[in-house]
Amino acid sequence: MGTKGREIVGMDVNKLVKLLNCAFADEWLAYYQYWLGAKVAKGPMKDAVMAELVQHAADELRHADMVCLRIIQLGGTPLLSPDAWLKNTNCGYDAPADPYVGILLDQNIKGEQCAITTYKKLLGITQSTDPVTYNMVLQIISDEVEHEEDLQSLKEDLDLLIAKRK
Ligand code: FE
Ligand code: FE
Ligand code: MG
Repeated sequence: MGTKGREIVGMDVNKLVKLLNCAFADEWLAYYQYWLGAKVAKGPMKDAVMAELVQHAADELRHADMVCLRIIQLGGTPLLSPDAWLKNTNCGYDAPADPYVGILLDQNIKGEQCAITTYKKLLGITQSTDPVTYNMVLQIISDEVEHEEDLQSLKEDLDLLIAKRK
C-alpha cells in the first residue's frame, strides 16, 4: 500500500474498498456466467453467440483483476472466498439452466445493465474524491456499455432470423 496514494483519496477508504469488493464479486460471477454459458449454449447462431460470450468472459476476468489490484493498492483485502461473492454481489448470478441462446442473451443483457448501473454509481462517488479509482471505473464501464450493445445486437439478429422462419 502506498501511503501518499491512500492519503489523496478524499473519502472513507474502508467504504470505498467495500464498494470495490462488491464490484469484485460481480465480476467473478459475470465471468463464470459467461464462461459456462459459452459451453452450454444451444440454438440458432450458436457459434456467433458462443464467440461473444467467450470474449466477454475474458473481459470480466480482466475487470476482476483490475478491481482486485485497486483494492490491494488501497490497503484493503479482496474477498477471500467464493462464498463471499454471492453475499456481496450487486448484480447476482443467473445460472444458465436453460441453454437456449435467446435466454442466455437475455440473462447476460440484464447482467450488463446492472453492471452499468453499479459502475455509474461508483463513477459518481469517486468523481471528486479518487481520480485513480474513477479512471479505472471509467475503463470498465466503457467495456460494459460495449458488452450490452454486442448482446442486444445479437439478440436483434436472432429475433429477425426467427421471425423470417415463421
Ligand atoms: Fe465487467
Ligand atoms: Fe460486461
Ligand atoms: Mg463483445
